Amino acid sequence: MDLKDKVRIAGVIGAGGAGFPTHIKLESRVEYYLANGAECEPLLAKDNELMKRETENILIGLNLAADFVGADKRHIALKEKHKSAIGKLNRLCPKHKIDISLLGDFYPAGDEYEIVYHVTGRLIPPEGLPLQVGCVVNNVETLRNVRNAADGIPVTTKYVTIAGAVRNPVTVEAPIGISLRDLIDAAGGVSFSDDEPAALDGGAMMGKVLIDLDKPIVKTSAGFIILPKSNRLVYRKSMPKRQSDRIGKSACDQCTYCTEFCPRYLLGYAIEPHKVMRSLGFEGEKRGLFSRHALLCCECNLCSLYACPEELEPRDACVNSKTALHNKGVKWEQTTPVKVHPMKEHRRVPTSKLQTRLGLNQYAHPAPFTEIDFKPQSVTIPLKQHVGVPCEPIVDVGAHVSQNDIIGDVPAGKLGVPVHSSVDGRVVNIDDSITIEVR
Ligand code: SF4
Ligand code: SF4
Repeated sequence: MDLKDKVRIAGVIGAGGAGFPTHIKLESRVEYYLANGAECEPLLAKDNELMKRETENILIGLNLAADFVGADKRHIALKEKHKSAIGKLNRLCPKHKIDISLLGDFYPAGDEYEIVYHVTGRLIPPEGLPLQVGCVVNNVETLRNVRNAADGIPVTTKYVTIAGAVRNPVTVEAPIGISLRDLIDAAGGVSFSDDEPAALDGGAMMGKVLIDLDKPIVKTSAGFIILPKSNRLVYRKSMPKRQSDRIGKSACDQCTYCTEFCPRYLLGYAIEPHKVMRSLGFEGEKRGLFSRHALLCCECNLCSLYACPEELEPRDACVNSKTALHNKGVKWEQTTPVKVHPMKEHRRVPTSKLQTRLGLNQYAHPAPFTEIDFKPQSVTIPLKQHVGVPCEPIVDVGAHVSQNDIIGDVPAGKLGVPVHSSVDGRVVNIDDSITIEVR
């Protein structure tokens, strides 16, 4: 069995967000293989902690994948502020013939368009993939999982940070399928008593609001910012589309700050969120005309949560327009060469300033890796944690399963990867997830 098959069978997907099956990336032939450790969501620390703890595993995984796709140039990109991870990498990278690329502490340093440009000087075509400029980019945890897959070890745990309004912010390696409630307990519980907790699943910038604390941890979970439900960020992120459109239509003064700070605009792409905001006032063809500028949005949220002085939601306008345009099959047509904006380097948004703007300074505490022996009573493992079609269960209710057993797989020839049990136990329920009671 080759590496690609081992990676598929081990259920490896992008651990940094979208959950694209990693074995598909291994079908390419490229010049560069890039490990992305440039974690940029404020307060999250799981990649930094992983790079300190499993440095060699990441580098081995990177070389295995790079050898497989014939990539001669291998880089690991991380922020220059992460001194102790850099110290370990400085010792080990020469042995593995991997270069280190250091980035400043700005947001969104971890966007793959930024990483590819920073390391190679190449610009990914609009709406394109790193592959089109000879690169594959993987999150550092994905590469740790590739290394494990080569040894037949499937993905059954996840590095996650629990930060925000908790007593002891921590980063842990948690069994997939345990609940967010279990993670909050691992962080000492919430640090407030006068409100209900809400979580920003994935971080303050790109994360979604999660109210149900019984939701399970999945392969794409990166971290949770716990906040009181009444927090302003939770309120803004929970606002219904109709309400944000209505406010945006009447309050946007077309100041263009959202465009001037947009990282994709500064990279030279024709995305102009202020024009998408203008589209809110139109119906029909004119709306489509202005909405087109949303097609190249990476959904980083900088326009809404940092740039807009009116606290409007140009990001949501872009995401909604992009979805509508994709549904109509509209693609971006590039008519002029992509050219980096001359102000790009001067308009970067430092994480510290962003954190202040988000009102998170009171929660800015380290979240060090802490070894915790989780003993859940049950785990709930969703059958769809990846880009592609859902897995179909291959176990029945009542079946006894062991840790690492495959419990669901995608039909042959379909996009996706199997899911595995993270515990020894008995299957007690199957719907769109498989619940296993621990024995
Ligand atoms: S920054 Fe806000 S007010 Fe200014 S153009 Fe953008 S959405 Fe409108
Ligand atoms: S979310 Fe806003 S700032 Fe980010 S890429 Fe989209 S338009 Fe630009």
